[in-house]
Amino acid sequence: MAYSQARDFMFCSFCGSMLSLVSPKYAECPLCKFKPSAKGILGREIGYTITAEDIRRDLGISHVSEGMKTKESAALIKQTCKKCGHPELEYTTRQMRSADEGQTVFLVCPNCKFKDTEN
Ligand SMILES: [Zn+2]
Ligand SMILES: [Zn+2]
Repeated sequence: MAYSQARDFMFCSFCGSMLSLVSPKYAECPLCKFKPSAKGILGREIGYTITAEDIRRDLGISHVSEGMKTKESAALIKQTCKKCGHPELEYTTRQMRSADEGQTVFLVCPNCKFKDTEN
């Protein structure tokens, strides 16, 4: 027997016997002598697909949690710039580490980039 039976198990679709791969093109059932094409069998055998998700899991790469990203919201408020008199300032709020420090408001003038903070 030129081709090893150590390949993936293949079974005869008629009698269920294990098929022997007798050539690169055909397998043969030892019982009923059914000769399916190896291409069709092997195509089915390796028909499953490995998804990117499986690969990531294998490599131990987990999704970066959205919560890990720092969220800064910028908005415009009607406040006059102390430096250039621009009528609107961009403000971002940031929660300080300790709760009793409260939120610090950062004000940035979109016109002259003057920075100010408010507690
Ligand atoms: Zn058979
Ligand atoms: Zn300004």
